[in-house]
Amino acid sequence: MDSDCYKLCEKLIPDTYVQQGQQARQVHQNKIRHLLEQKKLPEEGWSDLTIEILLQEFSVMDSNNFPGNCGVGEREARVFSPLVLKRHYNFGHGIGRSGEITAIQPKAAGSSLMMKLTNSLALDLIKLCGIPSVKSCFVVPMATGMSMVLSMLTFKQSRPDAKFVIWPRIDQKSCIKSIITAGLTPVVVENKLEGDELRTDVQAVRDKVAELGATNILCIFTTTSCFAPRAPDRLEEIGEICKVSDIPHLVNNAYGLQCTKCTHLLQQAARTGRVDVFVQSTDKNFMVPVGGSIIAGFDNKLLEKISKTYPGRASMSPTMDLFITLLSMGSKGYQALVKQRKELYTYLQTSLLQCATKHGQRLLKITHNHISMAMTLAVDGFSATDIGSKLFTRCVSGTRVVTQTGKISDINGQKFCNFGAHCDVYPCSYLTAAAGIGMTKEDVDTFISRLDKVLSKCKMLPYNSDHRTVVHETKDILSQQSSSNEKSKDEVQSSETFCEDASQTVT
Ligand SMILES: *Cc1c(COP(=O)(O)O)cnc(C)c1O
Repeated sequence: MDSDCYKLCEKLIPDTYVQQGQQARQVHQNKIRHLLEQKKLPEEGWSDLTIEILLQEFSVMDSNNFPGNCGVGEREARVFSPLVLKRHYNFGHGIGRSGEITAIQPKAAGSSLMMKLTNSLALDLIKLCGIPSVKSCFVVPMATGMSMVLSMLTFKQSRPDAKFVIWPRIDQKSCIKSIITAGLTPVVVENKLEGDELRTDVQAVRDKVAELGATNILCIFTTTSCFAPRAPDRLEEIGEICKVSDIPHLVNNAYGLQCTKCTHLLQQAARTGRVDVFVQSTDKNFMVPVGGSIIAGFDNKLLEKISKTYPGRASMSPTMDLFITLLSMGSKGYQALVKQRKELYTYLQTSLLQCATKHGQRLLKITHNHISMAMTLAVDGFSATDIGSKLFTRCVSGTRVVTQTGKISDINGQKFCNFGAHCDVYPCSYLTAAAGIGMTKEDVDTFISRLDKVLSKCKMLPYNSDHRTVVHETKDILSQQSSSNEKSKDEVQSSETFCEDASQTVT
């Protein structure tokens, strides 16, 4: 209501009451004005009421909500179901125009404002997370893998002859698939076992660059957040190689924003070497439903180019979910969640160590991964994967049991041994757990108590040098397999199924 309306109100009820109400309304308006002025995350999170007032202000600015609007185009944001319209707060136009995902949509001023603000808030948040030199970012209604595809296809425009993507192995199917879907050739660089940790083989990357020739390489694709025992890639060293050889550096930062270890790596690599683009999932970092990711980078022009590569308009749902969530959290709220996650990581580590020790197992020494951890699983008489299934039936999700079966998986024609382990043979079977944003102490306690029950029922072998025999057996399997190299299609198929069962991925 404007001031005329309030004056009219004073004719209906005593003016003091009206003024009081008007002041209360002003509190919301002030927050909204501040947001529009600063285009930054509010420090304190907003109430749902303030957020809904703003959503309503924006939605009345979109043409589908204009009184008396007469749409005669083929796309007029006509929504059949009131329930659907409600779910979208009366927004229906999506974001972008046919040519560019970050373009203003003339029919939807409100949606366009929300898109601009969300991208601005996201940029502010990325800085806050530990990457102050980030230049530009935008939210895309596609998960991380597809956003990597979009980024690589954009690189391709300026490097039309380059077809290789150097990829330090990360056993997450979206990663390898994104390279193949982009029509490129992955060049797998196996990780190096250092102590218990799997780390980037920087020399092998260097050798590959020399072997293939920099101009034939589209980009080097590295990963920060990943499952233990893999550590985040050595971003600084790879960034250096990219800088010296003039090769784009694409970083998969799937759930790395919540972890200062990962953001620090990105900041450093960009400062001393080269990082072009880094992609993060909205659901994994911001507690929203799956569906979006943020493409970010250190060069405005490149980011604009990626946004222009996106064909057509896009769903605004992931943008709106993030917009609402960021306003609701505020910078303080997000920082508190990050702090809590860090504390729970330590708590989970301590609890898992106790549980592992009790059952004669060992917590793997993974110092560079600050999200995910792993304990050995040496069992007698049956497969360690049974432990994974037992946990799953006890409603524990997100843990992964990785056994060294030596099985070969075929992912879009690319063969991997022990896919899920990040390497062909890891010295033992293990179970992973991660401390992700939003996790609670109760989650940790419940997990440990259920794990303890499951392990108590299994015949756990003490983790000792006997364990190494398991490794030798695995190596035997491997050498047998490589001698009978050409496997029949059926065999590959069944081994993949087995691998799927074995490494129960519930992420
Ligand atoms: C989640 C994740 C991805 C991407 O998965 P999407 O489903 O495409 O978001 C890639 N790599 C890692 C390490 C991940 O955790």
